[in-house]
Amino acid sequence: MNSNRSQALYQQACQVTPGGVNSPVRSFQGVGGSPLFMQKGQGPYCVDVDGNRFVDYVLSWGPLTLGHAHPQVVQAVQQASEQGLGFGAPTPAEVQLAQLLVQQFACIDQIRFVSSGTEATMSAIRLARAYTNRCLIVKFSGCYHGHADCLLAQAGSGVATLSLPNCAGVAASSVQNTLVAPFNQLRTLQQLFTQHGHDIACVIVEGIAANMGFVLPKPGFLQGIQQLCQQHGSLFVLDEVMTGFRAALPGLATLWQLQPDLITLGKVIGGGLPCAAYGGKRPIMQHVAPVGNMYQAGTLSGNPIAMAAGLATLKECCKPPLFAHMSQLAQQLVTGMQQQAQQHNVAVQTNSQGSMFGLYFLRSPSHQQPAVTDWHTVKRQVDNKRYARFFHFMLQHGFYFPPSAYEAGFVSSAHTAQHVQQTLQAFSRFLAKETK
Ligand code: PLP
Repeated sequence: MNSNRSQALYQQACQVTPGGVNSPVRSFQGVGGSPLFMQKGQGPYCVDVDGNRFVDYVLSWGPLTLGHAHPQVVQAVQQASEQGLGFGAPTPAEVQLAQLLVQQFACIDQIRFVSSGTEATMSAIRLARAYTNRCLIVKFSGCYHGHADCLLAQAGSGVATLSLPNCAGVAASSVQNTLVAPFNQLRTLQQLFTQHGHDIACVIVEGIAANMGFVLPKPGFLQGIQQLCQQHGSLFVLDEVMTGFRAALPGLATLWQLQPDLITLGKVIGGGLPCAAYGGKRPIMQHVAPVGNMYQAGTLSGNPIAMAAGLATLKECCKPPLFAHMSQLAQQLVTGMQQQAQQHNVAVQTNSQGSMFGLYFLRSPSHQQPAVTDWHTVKRQVDNKRYARFFHFMLQHGFYFPPSAYEAGFVSSAHTAQHVQQTLQAFSRFLAKETK
């Protein structure tokens, strides 16, 4: 594969940008090599600056649920931009998108748009503190909620990929009110509540821990969090930035009949443009300025172009047959991978939920099923080196998977059974090479 242009651009980028990238996981540091610079995307494919075309399983890290440059989304963006790029004043599209989301999520009466998932979770935490008049928050190790200081304790995603024990620059005072518990284990959380129950403002969790790979919650885990929060007057914050309109329609709260006090959304709701949100029940949301005294703001919040892209995307992706198509493909992909790995005696753990999926290569077969259930078992069991070889092999054969063993993959409505078949054929060749 010729990647001369990408490499030349990377050299230039490294001169003017730290590590040549604007977000760490893009750097390929988790798998080795240097990043490919992308030129364009069409449907399920992305094409790099050297003209190499890939079936894309990253899809901008989730937002592009309809694939690249979907005609209706492009048209909506074009039409909206002809009317002006933004006003710093309310526009009709933000009312429409808010109405759509309020309709979709039973536990959201009101919603506030921001520009990134980081802002959404950061604001939800501030709101939980304002509402409860308490200071402590609880998160789970290996979960990632963006890069707000207080949430960078034992975080997943890029922090995990780069093996950063802690983030430099985060003052001890910023994380001293953050308590961390293991994912999928209620005992520690119960102990934290016993010790600090009166001071815990909220517990924040990813419904599926998809920033340390792909870890499904054990039955009763999320319900247990909800119950403990209710018992102690703390808010239950469900971070659906990644899972919203991906793991289920509209999200895991509905699928698993949860009643979070606050939900954070991002990625798909902006259709590929910067947009995220936090929402919840009216009595809580009424604490947000200008009605209440929890201040939160943004120059570009509710940007009309992002709203148009989000509306066009959601109108399309909420069609049940379309979502069923994506879910089926994701399932076919992971089932096929599992079967082939078994045939080659390679230990893997795969899973999918809706249009998201995960693939772990395990260091050894495990008696415990599933082998990987939390950040501790990720670190102990996951074979990053084999993932890196997998990543590069698949890339060479035209398939773009996440450049880190700790990130989830995605399919879009533009992917087909044929793409999955081709992917599985390449995967089989990879396994044959690994076990030769
Ligand atoms: N929450 C979750 C669950 C995420 O996966 C992410 C990003 O991947 C974020 C929050 C942060 O979103 P953003 O990267 O838009 O700031």
